[in-house]
Amino acid sequence: DVQSVPEWLGHLNAPQREAVMTTEGPVLMLAGAGTGKTAALTHRLAHIVRERLAWPSEILCVTFTNKAAREMRERVGKLTGGALEGMPWLGTFHSIGAKMLRRHAELVDLKSNYTIIDTDDQLRLLKTLIRENDIDEKRWPPRQLAGLIDSWKNRGLNPGDLTPVDNESYANGKGQEMYRLYQARLQSLNACDFGDLLLHMLNIFRKHRDVLEQYQKRFKYVLVDEYQDTNAVQYLWLRLIAQDRKNICVVGDDDQSIYSWRGAEVANILRFDKDFPGAKVVKLEQNYRSTPQILAAASGLIEANSQRLGKTLWTELPEGPKVRVIGVWDAPEEARRVGEEIERLEREGLSLEQVAILVRAQYQTREFEDRFIQIGLNYRIVGGFRFYERAEIRDAMAYLRVIAQPADDLAFERIYNTPKRGLGAKTLEKMFLHARSTGQPLAAAALELADSDELPPRARNTIAELMRSFLRWREMSEAVTPSELMRAVLEESGYDAMLKADRSTEAAGRAENLTELVRAMEEYDTLEQFLEHVALVMDNDARDDGEKVTIMTMHAAKGLEFDHVFLPGWEEGVFPSQRSLDEGGLASLEEERRLAYVAITRARRKCTIIHAANRRIFGQWNSSIPSRFVEDLPEEHVESETTLTGGRSLWQANWSESEDPFAHVSQSRPDRSSARGPGWQRALATGYDPKAKRVKESTRSAASFAAKARTDIRVGDRVFHDKFGYGEVMDQEGNKLVIEFDKAGEKRVIDSFVTLANS
Ligand code: ATP
Ligand code: MG
Repeated sequence: DVQSVPEWLGHLNAPQREAVMTTEGPVLMLAGAGTGKTAALTHRLAHIVRERLAWPSEILCVTFTNKAAREMRERVGKLTGGALEGMPWLGTFHSIGAKMLRRHAELVDLKSNYTIIDTDDQLRLLKTLIRENDIDEKRWPPRQLAGLIDSWKNRGLNPGDLTPVDNESYANGKGQEMYRLYQARLQSLNACDFGDLLLHMLNIFRKHRDVLEQYQKRFKYVLVDEYQDTNAVQYLWLRLIAQDRKNICVVGDDDQSIYSWRGAEVANILRFDKDFPGAKVVKLEQNYRSTPQILAAASGLIEANSQRLGKTLWTELPEGPKVRVIGVWDAPEEARRVGEEIERLEREGLSLEQVAILVRAQYQTREFEDRFIQIGLNYRIVGGFRFYERAEIRDAMAYLRVIAQPADDLAFERIYNTPKRGLGAKTLEKMFLHARSTGQPLAAAALELADSDELPPRARNTIAELMRSFLRWREMSEAVTPSELMRAVLEESGYDAMLKADRSTEAAGRAENLTELVRAMEEYDTLEQFLEHVALVMDNDARDDGEKVTIMTMHAAKGLEFDHVFLPGWEEGVFPSQRSLDEGGLASLEEERRLAYVAITRARRKCTIIHAANRRIFGQWNSSIPSRFVEDLPEEHVESETTLTGGRSLWQANWSESEDPFAHVSQSRPDRSSARGPGWQRALATGYDPKAKRVKESTRSAASFAAKARTDIRVGDRVFHDKFGYGEVMDQEGNKLVIEFDKAGEKRVIDSFVTLANS
């Protein structure tokens, strides 16, 4: 009863208090966005500690991100008057799993100092295994196997548990064998991957009752936030731990389940009261976050989903502006508009910390970053890298830097073997050595080495080929636009092919980023201009003080809130994503709609949705259709606005010649709309032939690197070479020597690799 409610819980509503105070027995808090689920969970934790129902070390509390764990720790600290001596078992599934496994590693034949390998290591290991087993890695890429193994681990399956279908899903029935070999290899390395952190513990719990009982006893209370996004192995692991005392409280919202692509199963939350009979189900309906308008828009949208429990949400917060839907011309205008609005908010005294731009895909951040740099607006990218810091963008930029500036050693080192060309550390060492001793750039040293016997023939050919490519690209850069050049480089270097061969979602995201890079470059007339732009952007990155606008993906924004939220790119193919449209299933579309619901409900006071009428893809203007989610929004809570003439959108327009919306485009910018455009014609006119690959050319341009030749060596001198031994100099041309070696015969070597032997 209300009388006995402690004062410090007074501000919570009745069902929240019930969720806090019902410490014994299973509790399910199933409620919509912003209803104070996380707040109630935090208070429950504080309550348990304050009432000394358990020591902090006797409570297991799982959050979805490390950041959420940090915040909860802080808040509980405040609520308990700082009495909290740390909560060893408050964290994400991974961090808690890792901690437990350290204590019991020997039970799965690991040592307690096992290493947790990252995705890169994982891929390298799988690649070795794939080769050892004579599987065609082109057809069955390591990434695919990694994805399958992850999904099996997410489902709590050991190699022996795979179904025939699982087994068939890789290399015609080799799935199980490869999974088994991979686990054996990990064990011999005293290592495990992320998926193992929980799967190993689950195996231990199942095999060693004493260990399980130890944890069942220890954890007097179990609390889990964002329960709708748990996967099978997490669910099984939790269920075992909580099965004895059953003091488990989980909170979530079926409408916010957005991680099924990572194995999350919304069914986990729906069957909670079956796993824990007699569970108290607490429903929260009052939303404390958003204005009635935002709430109504979000609720109206999610109603279009067929697969949901359905719930009521209301708020007492004062009225606010309607959700705005703005139609703009194109992506640059989208970024311009958002920038202007944010500047206005700033002038009105709003903190930038209270503004977020939530995107569907990482590549969308680029347009905003460029614009914000230009107008000097501080921003941060959460849960990912800034656009120009992403690995694939850095790779592409490295190619451009070497083209523009052959002496850029850092850039050359980054990409001489990316994509993989079979040039190893040995080759790099040789190149460095030669570059240092001759005072040349790496690229020039590489070119010389390619023309000598210093390297094995394979490496020589590869380098020569690469240097020919650079020469070609350098000539091309004079003749074609930067974006055309970039496209050629990505294709001819094998970078595109590398991403294509890799069938993971990550690779698809990288390819999208590169497409966006090409798009960004279309704004620039010369490579130098573009490189300078990027250098400035990167410089801005160094700043780390003051308030910032947050740019992040909708996925990463789960659980967070901001006063003002901007949602750009609400167009078919962007959001819902092209992938979800291609899959075509109801389930994937409904998950996208849940994501839209998550996105809108992050807003406290104002939510602005934007769609552009045109997106430029590879120099082609494409008109786009507003997202179906815009249509799902209840009209009475939405205010639509368009910057297009006469309120007409391009896709509806039926223009006559004179009002061709493309007219201003072709006037203000030179036409670069196709790969066979004028740029290429110009290239051909200057005598550039993209097909010609002549060694002669590379030799000719080597002179332009102006290598220094040694003056202490003459024809007839006796010299010593590390690899070929003793020999006599037969001929000398610049820094190249022809030497008749005593054992190895005649070789062409570079003078920096020999020492004089005749004293
Ligand atoms: P989500 O589904 O997005 O994770 P949630 O249900 O976890 O949302 P919270 O983040 O806990 O909701 O709360 C939303 C906002 O409402 C927060 O700013 C929180 O401080 C506030 N809030 C929660 N409960 C109350 C309450 N009883 N009175 C006033 N404000 C509250
Ligand atoms: Mg929450």
